[in-house]
Parts: sequence; structure tokens; C-alpha cells
Amino acid sequence: MRTFLVLALLAMISGSHTLPTVVQWEEDPEQTPGFFEGDIVLRPKSRNCMSNPSQHWPDGIVYYKFSEGIDDVRKDFIRNAMNIVEEGSCVHFKEADDDQPYFVNITGNPGGCYSTVGFVEDISILNLHKHDLNTGCYRTGKIIHELLHTLGFYHMQSTYDRDDYIRIAYENVKPDFVHDFAKYSKDFVEDFGEKYDYGSIMHYSPHAFSANGAETIVPLQEIREGLMGQREALSTVDLIKLNKMYKCPELQVKD
Ligand SMILES: [Zn+2]
Repeated sequence: MRTFLVLALLAMISGSHTLPTVVQWEEDPEQTPGFFEGDIVLRPKSRNCMSNPSQHWPDGIVYYKFSEGIDDVRKDFIRNAMNIVEEGSCVHFKEADDDQPYFVNITGNPGGCYSTVGFVEDISILNLHKHDLNTGCYRTGKIIHELLHTLGFYHMQSTYDRDDYIRIAYENVKPDFVHDFAKYSKDFVEDFGEKYDYGSIMHYSPHAFSANGAETIVPLQEIREGLMGQREALSTVDLIKLNKMYKCPELQVKD
């Protein structure tokens, strides 16, 4: 049943992107071959924008279910990441009961870490390959990254004005992965008045999808080493956007 469900949802991926026939991960489990931008499961209705309020979880409550096979230690690890998101916002994660019609199904299938973007009145996917704790998909920052996709965030470097801040070095990108550097129009994404954030937990690393080890994303400003692509913590701007997206009554962001 679980396999069927995942396949059914994957079958809905936009036709311009090939299905993940070979499910595997290389050095970075967010960069799963066959997935849009490496870790996004596309659905036609959800690809437009994170600014559309209908794609935000009602009342800021994300219902979730753990699929079979995720052990208690991993459940606690995931819940800890959820708690971090909750502490910085008014969003809540609640385990779904049997009657809950929509929820995110947290799976542990092989093939990297990936998720659907935003809310639909249906079953969303968040998959975390069952790596050992603090490795691969089971790093707190990686899980937070995937949770932000679930909440409605796209990748930072996909935003409409990214070319003012970074250069995509296409000459270094693996040819089959050029589409992973898609850019959205202003109608597609909402920046909530916040400026480009090199330190977002939703930003790719400088070597994402590199064919030759050279940088694929070159910042146009001088930035701190290790800032771009960090998966350590939500940035201040990430938190501000999350609070604005979910209309949190009080901005829960501490500098
Ligand atoms: Zn991602």
C-alpha cells in the first residue's frame, strides 16, 4: 500500500521531469536523481508558489503520520526537528489520527531525502532515507529543510531575483541536472519583503550538482565561508518568512 501510494504520487510529477527510475543518492542525499531540484516531489497543483495561502497548512497545523518501519529513536529525532520549527514560529506539528483526511506521510524509503512543497488537501510525502543518526538525511538541519518544503518553502536560489546575488556556473553543472537550477518568476514566489538570504537553510551548497568539483553557484558578494548551503539552523530570515507565511501573531524571531 505504501509503495503504491508513493508510486501514485510520483506518477503525478510534471512530465518535463523524468521519474526516478533509479532511486539512489550520491554524496548529498538531498540531490536525488530524478527529483525536481534534487529533493522536491512535484505535484501539478502545488508547483506555483509558496505565496498562495491555499497552499499553507490550515491554522498552521501540520498533521503527520510515521509510516511503518521508522523506529522510535528516529521518530524522536524527527520530532526534535519539528520542535525547533515550532519554537521559532506559531506552526504546530500534530500526529494524525485515523480520521485525519490530509497529512504528511513520513516515510523511510531508500533514495534520499525529499518532500512535496506546501499544503494540499491530500497526502503529502516527506521521505528520509534511514541513515544513521547525524548522517545523511538524519541530520537535524536536513530534516528542518524538508519540513520547510512541507510548509511551503522552495529553494532560496530559485527565487526570481537570484541573478543579482549569485551566478549559476552552468559550465560546471552535470548536464542532466541543469533543470535543478530553475528560476521562478515573481508571480511564483513570495519573498515577504525579505532580501536574498545566502544563509537560508533552503539554499543549495556552492557545489550542488557539480560535474567536476568546481562551484556551480558563485556568490556575487563576499560571504562567509560555509554560509551558503548551511544545514545547521534556520536563518533569521527563514524564521521571519515562516512567521509571515503563517501570519504568526507575534514574531517569534530572536536575533
Ligand atoms: Zn530542498
